[in-house]
Amino acid sequence: MKHILIVEDEIKIANLLRDYLTDSNYTVSCIERGDKVIPYVKQTPPALILLDIMLPEMDGMAVCQELRKFSKVPIIMLTAKVEEIDRLLGLELGADDYICKPFSPREVIARVKAVLRRTVSEAVEDNKLVVGEIELDKNTYQVNIAGQILKLTPSEFTFLRILLQSPNKVFSRQQLLEQARDYNFDGYERTIDSHIKNLRKKIMVILPDKEVISTIYGVGYKLKYPW
Ligand code: CA
Repeated sequence: MKHILIVEDEIKIANLLRDYLTDSNYTVSCIERGDKVIPYVKQTPPALILLDIMLPEMDGMAVCQELRKFSKVPIIMLTAKVEEIDRLLGLELGADDYICKPFSPREVIARVKAVLRRTVSEAVEDNKLVVGEIELDKNTYQVNIAGQILKLTPSEFTFLRILLQSPNKVFSRQQLLEQARDYNFDGYERTIDSHIKNLRKKIMVILPDKEVISTIYGVGYKLKYPW
């Protein structure tokens, strides 16, 4: 499930959006203050942010500019005035879309889906798999986590690639093995556990408090996102 962050100080609007997004199978978090967004996103990068402009402590425009200094996370800005959209476009804040209040929740969901689709296809085009802080390049075989290079063996790379392609999907060892064979993995099912164990150890060095790969007892493994 994709994780959407709502930044909105009007509780009614935030709750309405949360309900609709949850019904559409998104995981939702809400923040009411602008100044809390940057630390939150650094800790838990969402798949998309719905960002209101009028916020206490730090307004949405400043938040957007700060986010763009370190993150390409899709941002949809919410504004109370139609006239403001032209001005916002002129400021080149780096937002992906703008929605004017009052909006219908259905419209918001449609825009969220459209923006996410666009971002996924862009990522596919440049051969990168990006989930949260993890970035895997299928061409160069490089993996970065939060900007740090992760040195992996070819087998570890293969398993991480399979897991990253389908966050939160549970894979049995047999399924992992079958998919890994497509990438020239020639080990056996019983070696999968040790590859995953080593992969975890390496990820833990950079993300010490996160459980990125979960064991599903009696079944296999999944990449848990958000972690
Ligand atoms: Ca507001």
